[in-house]
Amino acid sequence: MAKPKTYEGGCLCGEIRYTVTADPIFPHLCSCKMCRRWSGAPTVAWVEFPLDDFSWTGPGGTPALYRSSEKTRRGNCPKCGSAICAIDDGYDNISIVIGSLDRPNLIAPDVQHSYKSFRPKWWRPIVDVTGPRKQKSATNDSRLEEKHTAAS
Ligand SMILES: [Zn+2]
Ligand SMILES: [Zn+2]
Repeated sequence: MAKPKTYEGGCLCGEIRYTVTADPIFPHLCSCKMCRRWSGAPTVAWVEFPLDDFSWTGPGGTPALYRSSEKTRRGNCPKCGSAICAIDDGYDNISIVIGSLDRPNLIAPDVQHSYKSFRPKWWRPIVDVTGPRKQKSATNDSRLEEKHTAAS
């Protein structure tokens, strides 16, 4: 088995930093109302890692945790407000926002898109599920991607 990679990331201001050496688990998109309100983004890309392999390394230590539902707390930087993580009570994994990774290219969301119908209707997410490994039928996708970039 290949050795797991190390992933690093953090918030906008650098107070909150993390490092994890583990295989990514269940990378997916979510457009639920809570993810949208919490992040300010139309959709959040998530990935999970085992808590045992994960550590907070920035000067700010752990993020500020807000209990967003009965069993879930969401973590933001107390200084700059960046959305970083979600932790479920009694669960062995931490969920990390893929956008907070230093190298978000390394982890692509899988086909799972939770609460897809809750997304704003102008938002048509196109995910290359082949991820960073093989970009097969890239012609169509890259054309769409160009359009998307031009519109943003
Ligand atoms: Zn910060
Ligand atoms: Zn969500």
